[in-house]
Amino acid sequence: AKARGGGCWHFYSQQMFDAFQDRLALEQDLKLALSLQQFDLHLQPKIRLADRKLVGLEALLRWQSPSRGLVPPDEFISVLEYAQLMIPVGYWVIEQGFSLMAGLRQAGLGDLQLAINLSPAQLTDPGLPVVLEQLLQKYQLNAADFEFELTESMLAKNLTETINSMQRLKAQGFALAIDDFGTGYSSLSYLRQLPVDTIKIDKSFVFGMLDNQADYDIITSTIAMVRKLGLQVVAEGVETQAQAKSLLQHQCDQGQGYLFARPIPAANLVQTLTENINQ
Ligand code: C2E
Ligand code: CA
Ligand code: CA
Ligand code: CA
Repeated sequence: AKARGGGCWHFYSQQMFDAFQDRLALEQDLKLALSLQQFDLHLQPKIRLADRKLVGLEALLRWQSPSRGLVPPDEFISVLEYAQLMIPVGYWVIEQGFSLMAGLRQAGLGDLQLAINLSPAQLTDPGLPVVLEQLLQKYQLNAADFEFELTESMLAKNLTETINSMQRLKAQGFALAIDDFGTGYSSLSYLRQLPVDTIKIDKSFVFGMLDNQADYDIITSTIAMVRKLGLQVVAEGVETQAQAKSLLQHQCDQGQGYLFARPIPAANLVQTLTENINQ
């Protein structure tokens, strides 16, 4: 490598410039994605561990870009948030979810609850309760058909505003879950104050739970604590029978993961579910 300071500076600044250009291009593509109908929902089953029954679905956003292919949300959600596109895209997700739920009900699958992920900006958007009320009317659905998943990290920012927004959704009858539990900075004392129904243990703990004593201890004590608080506990990222068995032994209510099902494109969902039920 060259020891010339100037050359090094040039190299790094060029790299930074390229990264900046890539990011701008991504943002531009995302700005068009909604109007060009490039977004899609996939649904992942939630399973009750005691009897392996399907009890719900989580809506997961996908971006089918003509030039980039199927882009996973971890690569674009933060860009949507930064570019202030998450609120409009989030409303698209919500409306798709409601329309899907109406379809499930028609297919006799109305017992399933649909979980929808909400970004911080969406949660505190003052328009959200009104839009949700209108959608409940439009699709003739109950608020209890839906659960909103909120990440633990959003509590670290405006706690009071966050709790107020959560209480509004709760008062409307929607269920609420804390997602990625264990990865944020929230203290356990928040749990008492939050109007939540469900805690989802982050998949990073589940992956290691049978190989790593610390992960195992965190999982089992979290399940015990959450149940003591009278909340439901869901483990995400369940990939093996051994994990499912151990989670059930510790009285974890639900599991979600590749062991049971991968996320399914919304278009195939009703067919896949009715086929399985009629078997
Ligand atoms: P998340 O909400 O924690 O969703 C769970 C993620 O874990 C999903 O990734 C899912 O496909 C993946 N997963 C499920 N089971 C397994 C498993 O057994 N093994 C492994 N390795 N992974 C599993 P996905 O779909 O790529 O979504 C990533 C994240 O993007 C989500 O994490 C969520 O934070 C965010 N996201 C997705 N859709 C939306 C949305 O509509 N709105 C918002 N705000 N965020 C979304
Ligand atoms: Ca989630
Ligand atoms: Ca999660
Ligand atoms: Ca996550």
